[in-house]
Amino acid sequence: MAQEHDLEEVCTIPRVSGVEYRCRACLRRWAKKPVHYCPGLPDYPYWDSVPDHFKTETQLGKLGLRPGPDVKTPSLRALCSYTAHREDKVYKLYDLGEAVPKRKPSLAQLAALEKANAALLERLVERKRFE
Ligand SMILES: [Zn+2]
Repeated sequence: MAQEHDLEEVCTIPRVSGVEYRCRACLRRWAKKPVHYCPGLPDYPYWDSVPDHFKTETQLGKLGLRPGPDVKTPSLRALCSYTAHREDKVYKLYDLGEAVPKRKPSLAQLAALEKANAALLERLVERKRFE
């Protein structure tokens, strides 16, 4: 998805330079023309600027939801990207309104999980005994 930013010049009254650049696609603003490519989606520079209806997959998961509308190819709607501690962070954001309920595990799956956990616990107890 390498594309150029769709730039427009915006007047900034308090600034001496009087102008800054804003991308119509990713909504970012710069004092100088940006050199990197545009993600083509709204790209928020910090969490406070992310609208409430955009959630990460983890945030949706905590609400018992997962990204939609098609769970196999969920629609990425925005990004939240910034640099923290010299590390580039990029979070994918999905629309809450398009999210779908999480699948519930079947009884057979739950039984298999329980069996696996019991086996793991047994191995740990066994290991402790030989220490
Ligand atoms: Zn852009």
